[in-house]
Amino acid sequence: MSAVDEPIFELGPRHREIQRVARDVAAQVEGFAAEADECTEIHRGVAEALRGSGLAACVVPAAYGGRDDVLDPLTIAVVREALMYASAHLDSLFGMQGVGSYPLTVGGGEALKRAWLPRVARLEAVAGLALTEPEVGSDLRAVTTTVRAEPGGLRVSGRKSFITNGGAADFYCVLGREGEGYSMALVPADAPGLTVTPGAGLIAPHILGELTFDDVLVPEANRLGAPGKAFSLMLRTLAVFRVTVAGSAVGLAQAALDEALRHTTTREQFGGPLIGLGAVGQNLAQSWVDVETARAITYRAASLARTDPLAHLDFSSIAKVSATEAAGRVVDRSVQAMGRFGLIRGSKIERLYRNARPLRVYEGATEVLLDSLARRLAKGVS
Ligand SMILES: Cc1cc2nc3c(=O)[nH]c(=O)nc-3n(C[C@H](O)[C@H](O)[C@H](O)COP(=O)(O)OP(=O)(O)OC[C@H]3O[C@@H](n4cnc5c(N)ncnc54)[C@H](O)[C@@H]3O)c2cc1C
Repeated sequence: MSAVDEPIFELGPRHREIQRVARDVAAQVEGFAAEADECTEIHRGVAEALRGSGLAACVVPAAYGGRDDVLDPLTIAVVREALMYASAHLDSLFGMQGVGSYPLTVGGGEALKRAWLPRVARLEAVAGLALTEPEVGSDLRAVTTTVRAEPGGLRVSGRKSFITNGGAADFYCVLGREGEGYSMALVPADAPGLTVTPGAGLIAPHILGELTFDDVLVPEANRLGAPGKAFSLMLRTLAVFRVTVAGSAVGLAQAALDEALRHTTTREQFGGPLIGLGAVGQNLAQSWVDVETARAITYRAASLARTDPLAHLDFSSIAKVSATEAAGRVVDRSVQAMGRFGLIRGSKIERLYRNARPLRVYEGATEVLLDSLARRLAKGVS
């Protein structure tokens, strides 16, 4: 077996280096993470720490001011794992720069990419991706927003709901119907006719906006992908970024395990540390198994996605289901191991408990992913 054929089960030097940078940012943010995770606007301290790190360059190709020639899902997953360990707000700000700009990266014209992507890479422009509508969630083929080509440009009409960075973003990549197909357009936040109102308050606060496009007109050059063929841009975006949500889940699960470990090794009951009571130790050991298993499948799926994300979408879905469900179990066990101290509002474990929940819903709810995996199994692709 040649060196290039060697199976790799550990991160190499390049990924370890970016992990170190991400852990540094996480450490800078740790002191105000609780405050940041309550924010529904961009937290200035988090933005400054992330901007200063240069990490946003990981989600933009090198030709447009980014880090790698082609986006590397393993890099992004490793970074998200480290950032989520400290703060969901920090993880979201980093992750959305990629999710929100990827349709532009793969479907935008040269001038449009030059106008926006270098600013995304420097975190000078904030990105948003607008797919979900008030009546449309998992079944995105049912979107009702329209994109129409007119002599003066592209006309975008409709409503988008639950949009991360809504109100904070500088532009949105918007999915709509065009004729029998689906198209995408980049709509700058200051486009006349676009209004944004604050989104719902969540159990895990998040920057969310409700977007109304009242016959918004943008130049034809703001089209992303071919007319009527842009659904594939969305699939390509999910193919790169779904596995990175698994990275976030691993980071959260590790933080929950560490929190329970800290508590159960320092608090004493029945004459010794809690962790020495069989069920408590077993509880933590099971969480360790869950964390390491989730990390292994996440790194493997992200490595596979490096060469051809769409071809390995099944593995990305498996990793997302595995890691986000594991995070839910781990954080719940941690709360249990901490007894009444796990139930205190404003405590770190309570924040982790709330932050774990949305991971199983967005970028493909667990049941939606299992449904598509079941169909793939039925076709005999496993
Ligand atoms: C914190 C957060 C941030 C978000 N950010 C964005 C964003 O930036 N941009 C954006 O466009 N959207 C965003 N969303 C919306 C998100 O993408 C949707 O919530 C998600 O697609 C699920 O849609 P829904 O909530 O309408 O659930 P529904 O589609 O109504 O589904 C409800 C439940 O039904 C089940 N279900 C649905 N379909 C199937 C199926 N085929 N098979 C089996 N079970 C199924 C699942 O359990 C699912 O959780 C965000 C959501 C959250 C919570």
